[in-house]
Amino acid sequence: MPELGTNPLAAGEKNISVDSARAAIRAAIVPIRESELVSLNDALGRILAADVISPINVPANDNSAMDGYAFDGAALRADSALTLRTVGRVVAGQPPVANVKAGECVRIMTGAVMPDGLDTVVPLELCRVDGDRIVIPPGVIHARENLRKAGEDLALGRPALLAGCVLRPADVGLIASLGLVQAEVLRRATVAVFSSGDEVVAPGESLPPNCIYDSNRFALIAAVQRLGMTAVDFGLLRDDRAALQGALEKALDRVDAIVISGGASAGDADYTREVMAQLGSVEFWKIAMRPGRPFAFGALRGRNDRRVWLFALPGNPVAALVTFYVFAREALLALAGAKGEALLSAQARSVAAIRKRPGRTEFQRGIVTRGSDGMLEVRTVGSQGAGVLRAMAEANALIVLGHEQGSVAAGQPVDVWLFEGLT
Ligand code: AMP
Ligand code: MG
Repeated sequence: MPELGTNPLAAGEKNISVDSARAAIRAAIVPIRESELVSLNDALGRILAADVISPINVPANDNSAMDGYAFDGAALRADSALTLRTVGRVVAGQPPVANVKAGECVRIMTGAVMPDGLDTVVPLELCRVDGDRIVIPPGVIHARENLRKAGEDLALGRPALLAGCVLRPADVGLIASLGLVQAEVLRRATVAVFSSGDEVVAPGESLPPNCIYDSNRFALIAAVQRLGMTAVDFGLLRDDRAALQGALEKALDRVDAIVISGGASAGDADYTREVMAQLGSVEFWKIAMRPGRPFAFGALRGRNDRRVWLFALPGNPVAALVTFYVFAREALLALAGAKGEALLSAQARSVAAIRKRPGRTEFQRGIVTRGSDGMLEVRTVGSQGAGVLRAMAEANALIVLGHEQGSVAAGQPVDVWLFEGLT
């Protein structure tokens, strides 16, 4: 792990690229290790602490994939029909019929265990039934068709799910299908969320002139919660160095990471980076992106040298959410131990021209829909100002215009990151 605070990116006044900032965050973050057992009904969205190894074969026995007749496929001939005598019947959950001999077959239902020595099931509709005999026409079936082999879905001793998997409904069902009632998951990450700014007022209070309601704290707490983490509301801080330092020190021992918005720029009342350096280190700040340039990442030192990651986001509400999605989201997921939870990205045709300057990454608010030709298309949402939260609320995607990219002509494809499907 690189020594924190030695990153040359932190010192310079140069704006660093989105990609190098993401890479630096990825390299720094150390995942949580402590785990706990949860029952399957509490497992949704939790992150597996260890591989789930199958204690059984799934399915447990060779069984039929169809309703039909089980027989020995070796008796099939390419050019003549096969006539067999039905000697028994087996349904799912019952023991199979034993001692089936040459020239015989067993009526079998989907999921029923295959009788010993039989390996093929002809579906009901493919054979002719004549009393206790069936006739299978040539060419309708091949040996070993419609047979589900024991262990075919998952063999005993093989990993069913890997550590770092964020449990979704199918995963929870898969664990249950192995007969297990609990999952070993990583403890939930805890994230402190602060707002800062003398002009920022808590909702519910009356709004003095020249002030603005605190929207960031609530949007960011919701964004943290959507990741399945515990968000702790640490309230609103004045633009005051001592107050900021005291509040961060108080949070340090209670959380794994801190998200603070406002005060990360270079303005007269912006103390966040100074206090970060005092309590730990600033890894880097100032990103070549729009919106979201004044973003800083670092680590504070908690008790016993424990590192508490700090994401200092810009105060502008859109910039705060965009930097959360671009940097903090994947960093927090990595901290929580999740593997491979990248944003859902796609390409969509831009319905209009978009102006863009090379040398920074731009994230525009967009609405992705399906065009008349069935392909995805995207249009930008009204106002692209960094403070216009309403546009962010109307959007369902970010249009991502890469660092080197220039303006986009109408009809050209652009990258989009969809909000729906984000965890
Ligand atoms: P700052 O990054 O502190 O310079 O703030 C940039 C802009 O974002 C200013 O116009 C602030 O009023 C606004 N802002 C800062 N914090 C918040 C917040 N918690 N909620 C809404 N707007 C904010
Ligand atoms: Mg401020």
